[in-house]
Amino acid sequence: MELITAKTAGFCFGVKRAVEQVYAQIGAGDGPIYTYGPIIHNQEVVKELEAQGVHVLAEDHLEEEEGRGRVIIRSHGVSRSVQERLAKQGYEILDATCPFVKKIHRIVSEKSAEGYKVLVAGNPDHPEVKGIIGWCSGPVRVITEPEDIEKLPDDFRSKVCVVAQTTFNYNKFKLLLAKLEKILYDRIVFNSICNATQERQVEARQVASGVDCMLVVGDQHSSNTQKLYEICLQECANTHFIETVRDLDALWFENAKRVGITAGASTPHKIIEEVQTYVREF
Ligand code: SF4
Repeated sequence: MELITAKTAGFCFGVKRAVEQVYAQIGAGDGPIYTYGPIIHNQEVVKELEAQGVHVLAEDHLEEEEGRGRVIIRSHGVSRSVQERLAKQGYEILDATCPFVKKIHRIVSEKSAEGYKVLVAGNPDHPEVKGIIGWCSGPVRVITEPEDIEKLPDDFRSKVCVVAQTTFNYNKFKLLLAKLEKILYDRIVFNSICNATQERQVEARQVASGVDCMLVVGDQHSSNTQKLYEICLQECANTHFIETVRDLDALWFENAKRVGITAGASTPHKIIEEVQTYVREF
């Protein structure tokens, strides 16, 4: 059986940078270490960090927490108000927001100040999108599907700045822009979709189109892994979304001559290697 692992599988630059920042804090400095929400969408890694004294600061209960120790802001970033609240409560803030997300914060902050309304193409429930919204000082709306454009208020027809969640599907973004073009005048568009996401999606499609079984490895709560799964499923009906090697089912490989593997941006290399070993030994 031939095994093809996507080169882009696993941690992206921003996640790697954030995770490394957390590990660098272990054993250094005084006081407890927190991450603002789970550092990545991977329960295995979060559990491992907890065992080493890195606690997850509950986003919903921030006002109940005492401000002591260091808090690491994850790659998704946070809103301006969360950052200010953490500082006011006395936490030492270590900002591991991905520079690509930081750039979106800067854009929406500047454009809002110039009087632009902001449209964010993305998932309104995703922490990155909540963070982006929190850097807008004026009107802001999130759009996910083309139908959402029809529901926009009239004042969103002109002087609009469009950005995208970094992990938003590129083809969907193009679809939204094509529809927006017809109704918006005086608009500025920033394609803020991260290259890492695009490259991973393009390669996942390519690998999935040439295999008999495709494995997408990542946490069930990771939106970028979910998107990879959707893309791969379009190319290979025998595509499976797994969290760890424990989710594998031997039946999937019975008649497979070629097996492909890709993984989301928050999947540690160790987990990918375990899956590779299982498949190779099958
Ligand atoms: S996907 Fe891109 S924007 Fe998001 S954390 Fe990774 S490198 Fe940064």
